[in-house]
Amino acid sequence: MTRFTDSQRNLDLGLTWHNSFAGLGDDFYTRLEPQPLPEPYWVGRNLSLARELNLNDSWWTSQELLEAVTGNRHLVGTQALASVYSGHQFGQWAGQLGDGRAILLGETSCGMELQLKGSGLTPYSRMGDGRAVLRSSIREFLCSEAMQGLGIPTSRALCVTGSDAPVRRETMETAAVVTRVAPSFIRFGHFEHFSYSDQRAQLKILADYVIDRFYPDCRVADKFEGNRYAALLVAVSERTAKMVAQWQAVGFCHGVMNTDNMSILGLTIDYGPFQFLDTYNPDHICNHSDTVGRYAFNKQPNIAYWNLFCLGQALLPLIEEQELAIAALESFKTVFPAVLEAKMRAKLGLLDSSGDTANDDRALIEVILKLLAKDHVDYTIFWRRLSHCSGAMNAAAVRDLFLDRPAIDAWLLRHAQRTAHLPHNLVTDLMLKTNPKFVLRNHLGEQAIQAAKLKDFSRVDTLLLLLESPFDEHPGFDEYAGFPPDWANDIEISCSS
Ligand code: AMP
Ligand code: MG
Repeated sequence: MTRFTDSQRNLDLGLTWHNSFAGLGDDFYTRLEPQPLPEPYWVGRNLSLARELNLNDSWWTSQELLEAVTGNRHLVGTQALASVYSGHQFGQWAGQLGDGRAILLGETSCGMELQLKGSGLTPYSRMGDGRAVLRSSIREFLCSEAMQGLGIPTSRALCVTGSDAPVRRETMETAAVVTRVAPSFIRFGHFEHFSYSDQRAQLKILADYVIDRFYPDCRVADKFEGNRYAALLVAVSERTAKMVAQWQAVGFCHGVMNTDNMSILGLTIDYGPFQFLDTYNPDHICNHSDTVGRYAFNKQPNIAYWNLFCLGQALLPLIEEQELAIAALESFKTVFPAVLEAKMRAKLGLLDSSGDTANDDRALIEVILKLLAKDHVDYTIFWRRLSHCSGAMNAAAVRDLFLDRPAIDAWLLRHAQRTAHLPHNLVTDLMLKTNPKFVLRNHLGEQAIQAAKLKDFSRVDTLLLLLESPFDEHPGFDEYAGFPPDWANDIEISCSS
C-alpha cells in the first residue's frame, strides 16, 4: 500500500502541535508517515480522554478524524516518526529494536504525545508486518483505561479503529490501530540503545531531555553529590516501585517486562499478554510464550529491579561512579515495600497508622494471602466482598469463598477485632475505594473481542464505561463483576499481537 504525501491528504484540526522529541535530532528516530488501511471503522472511542485533550466532541463523528487516526490522513502540524531503542528481552540483550509498528505523531498543546500503534512498517519492524490485530488492540484500549480508572500510572488510549485488511498471526485476523497517549513513550531501552552503542553524546541529550521535561527536580538535587543522572535513576526507581506495588496490590500481571517495555516515566505501557488474576495464585504466568515463568506474577517486583539495574548500567557513562549508581537503585528497595504495605493496609480498611500493631498487621496480610492461594479464591471478588462486610457482619459471602472455614473464620475475627475501634463507615469507604468491583478479566475482554469481530462494539463501550470507574457499583452490570466462566482458563494469551 502506498504512503500518502499529497496535500489532499492533509487534515487541519486547528490544533497546536509541539514536537519536542523530534527536536532531539536524527539519531533518535526516522521520520515517516503511517501506512493507510482500507475502509476503517470505529471500534472504541474514549470521549472523556478526548475532552481532557481539548478535542472537539464533533470530530468523533467525522470521517476525516476516523481516517486520520487510522493513519490515512496527515494531521497538519505533526512530525510523524518512529523512534529507535534497544533492550533486554527475557533476560537477554536483544540489540536494536525500536518502534516497529508505532508512529509518534507529536505532542498536543497539553503536553501529551499521540502515537498510532499498528500503523504500518517502519525501519525497525524487523521480521514483523508493522500491524496490530483487532484482538490485541481492544485489549490495550480497555486495559489502559482500566488502569487509569484504578489510579495506576499508565499510558492512555484515545481510540481504536479497525479495518478488514487481513493480518496473519497463528490464524488470519484483521488489522486495527490504537491511538495511545502519554507524556512520553521513552523506555529504559532508549537509554540502553545509546549506551550500548557508545553514543555518549546522544545518551546525554536523551537524559537531559527527560530530566528537563519530566524530572526537573533532578537538576537541583543536592543529594547524590549534585549528580543529576544519579538523581534521575533514583526518581525512576521510585516511580517504577510505586507502579509495580500497585500492580501487585490489584493483582495485575504485565506479562512481558522486557526493558523495552519499561517506561522512563514509571507508566504501565505496552499491553500485550497481561492479565488481572482470577483466582489468587502468586506463581501465575499469564503469558503462554513465557515458558519458564520469568514474568510470573510474584516475580514482577524483582524483575522491575533487574530492569532498573539495566537502566543504571546504561546511565553509568553519565553517572560516572558505579557506587553512586548502586546507591541510587536502593530507593526501589525502600519504596516498593512501603507502597505495597500501604496499599494492602488500605485494602484491609486499616485507616490508622500501624504504630504498635505493625507486625500484627503484616501477619494479617500474610495470612490472608496464604489462605487465598491455598483455597484458590478469586482475588477481586474476595476483596470486594470483604469491603461490604467489614466488622464481621454479613461475613457469609466471604466465608463461602473458602474451603477452610475454621481458618477464614479465625482470620475474619482477627480483622474485625483490629478494625473494631475504627469508625465503621470510614473503614468501609476506604475499602470500597481501594478494592475494585470491576477489573478487565480475560474472559470479559474475550467476549468483547468476539462481538467486535462480528462488528458489534457495544461490549467495548460497556466495558470502557465500567472500567473508567471500577469502584462504583454500576447497578445492572453485575454480570461483569462475577466469577469467570470455566472456559476462561482455556484462553491462551501469548506475545502474538
Ligand atoms: P513487544 O513485545 O510487543 O513489546 O514488541 C517487541 C518489539 O517488536 C518492538 O520493537 C515492537 O515494535 C516489535 N514488534 C512487535 N510486533 C510487531 C509487528 N507486528 N511488526 C513490527 N514490529 C513489531
Ligand atoms: Mg514493546
